Amino acid sequence: MRIITDFHLHSRYSRACSKELTIKNIAKMCERKGIQFVGTSDFTHPAWREEIGRELEPIDGGAFQLKDQSSSTRFLLSTEISCIYKRHGKTRRVHHIILFSHLAGVDHLIASLQARGCNLKSDGRPIIGLDSEELLKHVLEADPMGLLIPAHAWTPWFAVFGSQSGFDSLEECFGEMTKYIPAIETGLSSDPKMNWRLKQLDSIFLVSNSDAHSLDNLGREANVFEMPEPGYQELRRILVERDRTKFIETIEFFPEEGKYHVDGHRVCRFWCEPAQTKKLKGICPKCGKPLVVGVLNRVDRLADRPLDEQPKDATPYRSIVPLAELIGGAMGVGKASKTVKAEMDRILSDGRSEFGVLLDLPESELTRITTPEIVESICRMRAGEIQIRPGYDGEYGVVSLREDEGTKRKEQQASLF
Ligand SMILES: [Zn+2]
Ligand SMILES: [Zn+2]
Repeated sequence: MRIITDFHLHSRYSRACSKELTIKNIAKMCERKGIQFVGTSDFTHPAWREEIGRELEPIDGGAFQLKDQSSSTRFLLSTEISCIYKRHGKTRRVHHIILFSHLAGVDHLIASLQARGCNLKSDGRPIIGLDSEELLKHVLEADPMGLLIPAHAWTPWFAVFGSQSGFDSLEECFGEMTKYIPAIETGLSSDPKMNWRLKQLDSIFLVSNSDAHSLDNLGREANVFEMPEPGYQELRRILVERDRTKFIETIEFFPEEGKYHVDGHRVCRFWCEPAQTKKLKGICPKCGKPLVVGVLNRVDRLADRPLDEQPKDATPYRSIVPLAELIGGAMGVGKASKTVKAEMDRILSDGRSEFGVLLDLPESELTRITTPEIVESICRMRAGEIQIRPGYDGEYGVVSLREDEGTKRKEQQASLF
């Protein structure tokens, strides 16, 4: 059975997150999106830990279900922890996704972090002073079946390979514990193809998750596994044993759409490709301050394989644009508008899910349920025929369909984007 999984997201107890992020709402939204297996997120936060215990119960295989059985969505225990520490004379900021097999392990980790003086109460994604290697030791001590995966590995300010406060290799960050790292998360600003350029990543998996701060963003990136049913034990086995036959594909943002794809300076509204940054000697031509080096540039610096070469046995991926954006673009209205919502509801009736519509539904079937403009948008997305103004220095990229016919619809898109 094909299981779509998203295990990096947040609860309403994380900073800048929607108040609607409750366990029940997440379960319901996952059904609409077509996600069968989703992370609880934020399990070290006391109030959210309490909600997890109140709403969910364990079932076989290390998955959790709603106690009232009102949803088919299955959960796995997940959180994100941000570490800030000094190593080799530099301040490091690295975010980590942590997955656990049982609640007793979660409580063990909470107790051991609190004993080290970590503040877990003020944020669902806590910031702690442990280094990454030490955190991994705490994780495995609390649950030997636990996993730690570096989150959005290329984000300039908060990641293992980040240009501003990261490292050049996993070994530099995790030392002797590196062998316990089964994967890195590529993040929105990079896709697998970019990561294939680093030979040091050939021996691990590349995973993708939404890092959603609102219900609508759930599943904007995801992992597709072949599993008999959603289960943490099997997910862990696939990752740890590098079972390529069961890790079918990842579903990706177009990386240009991510917030840190190219180099730039947001306050000056200036961005450029890595070659231009080199010519500018890394300095913003508008204000004279250093440019924030994006993911494309950073990957290029650490790469030891040419762009057009693909490693053996790489996991395939598909790139998507969220359905609301496609509909908004095709109809010439904002993606959060009532018009888009109404059309979404129409398209996603009769038990159809967003992933089903974006990835699987044949064109003939799409034509039956929605407008020709939306069908065309979906087909162009599937063919990769889109234009993007790339994201930089915390500013999301902007997607539009390829301009060709100069139709009225195109003009509407131009005004939208
Ligand atoms: Zn996050
Ligand atoms: Zn500037």
